[in-house]
Amino acid sequence: MERYTKLSSIQADIRSKKNTVVAIVSNYLQTINDNKNLNVFLEVFEEEALQRAKEIQEKIDNNKAGRLAGMVLAIKDNLCYKGHVVSAASKILQNYRAVYTSTAVQRLISEDAIIIGRTNCDEFAMGASNENSAFGPVLNYADNTRVSGGSSGGAAVAVQANMCLASIGSDTGGSIRQPAAFCGAIGLKPTYGRVSRYGLIAYASSFDQIGPITQSVEDAAVILEVIGGKDNNDATTSSEPITPYTHSFRKSRVAYIKEALNHPALDVEVKRQTEEVIDKLKRDGHMVEEVGFEMLDALVPAYYVMTTAEASSNLSRFSGLLFGHRSNLSNGIDGTFKKSRSEGFGKEVKRRIMLGTFVLSSGFYDAYYSKAQKVRRKVKEETERILSEYDFILSPVTPSTAFKFGEKSNNPIEMYLADMFTVHANISGHPAISFPIGHHNNGMPIGLQLLGKNFAENDLLNMAAHIMA
Ligand code: GLN
Repeated sequence: MERYTKLSSIQADIRSKKNTVVAIVSNYLQTINDNKNLNVFLEVFEEEALQRAKEIQEKIDNNKAGRLAGMVLAIKDNLCYKGHVVSAASKILQNYRAVYTSTAVQRLISEDAIIIGRTNCDEFAMGASNENSAFGPVLNYADNTRVSGGSSGGAAVAVQANMCLASIGSDTGGSIRQPAAFCGAIGLKPTYGRVSRYGLIAYASSFDQIGPITQSVEDAAVILEVIGGKDNNDATTSSEPITPYTHSFRKSRVAYIKEALNHPALDVEVKRQTEEVIDKLKRDGHMVEEVGFEMLDALVPAYYVMTTAEASSNLSRFSGLLFGHRSNLSNGIDGTFKKSRSEGFGKEVKRRIMLGTFVLSSGFYDAYYSKAQKVRRKVKEETERILSEYDFILSPVTPSTAFKFGEKSNNPIEMYLADMFTVHANISGHPAISFPIGHHNNGMPIGLQLLGKNFAENDLLNMAAHIMA
């Protein structure tokens, strides 16, 4: 079967009877089965997906189908889907079944998308390589010795390896954009508050956003339109309307950050290809200028202070009493807490809980947490200032392409620095997109990032489409 890169082609083929929903789902199931070694799916909802395919084909035949009919999606294993296991790739939730469905997943299903399975990720979405999953890492399809990126690594490789049309991930500091870049896909982190977080297993609530990983800009747009918007179950959602995406060309003002392009950690080939895009944009008549952003090196430290603080609070509910794993070796309440958490959480999650507890502890709160909050405020103000003069801030997504397994896993600081360009949008709350611009001479895809004005996701999609054309 031909590889589909967008929903409109699938829908056209179904309408003209060139293809059926069942055949499309079966084809994806076959590809999943043929590539089990990549460790992409923690669970495939095979029977359910085939059953849904039959029902949706019938709806299409009777002209009753929703707008996502024909779309086959994978969901990251931190999104609740009632009756299905949701583990956040952690032993502590290994057999936990969701008791309700997240708003994003519910909205997709209501428009007749088919959920084919749940994808592997870093434990509790903490990581940049998928090496922190309790169920083993995800292999990059382009080179099996390299990581998929993280934390939505399974979601990215599922799209890269054609195991589904698109997938849904979550992005706290780059977890949609970075794996998308490592796998040659498009990843969109919406504006904070655009998509409901209801039913997303929280990592750092003031940073987390759900978003799509796709092969086309149009699919990212339609998924955002479906999952986005006000939700009474998440008080941080905005009622800002989502206008349908249409492609249009508009001359834009683009800023690129001097400190990012000149960063010593930036791979020369990634830099060269980013500069080529800058030149192309200038030739196309856009105004592209360099701006200074002195806080670049403060982003990662501030991000890790604030997100670990929020994580230490969010993850306190996994106590061995209410959810998931409870140790057999324990007695008494304190013993149950200690043993269950010690057995259930992996190394990186424990590190972050301890770090977060430390930065919030009295005596250190002012030195770390309050200071990081001040950095956040300054980053927001400075970003707003740049965006009052420019439409976009352009940068690489990551300092390098997908790295080899084990290359950074023994050095957390080095792993954290992989997030240096992506955490910006989560600290400030702005939307950002990552999309492929070419290949490195090591054969791996290179991505580019655009950060845009609040709720201007359509502008990001338009500009991404223009650059990729
Ligand atoms: N790599 C970042 C981290 O480890 C981002 C994770 C994410 O966006 N969920 O925190």
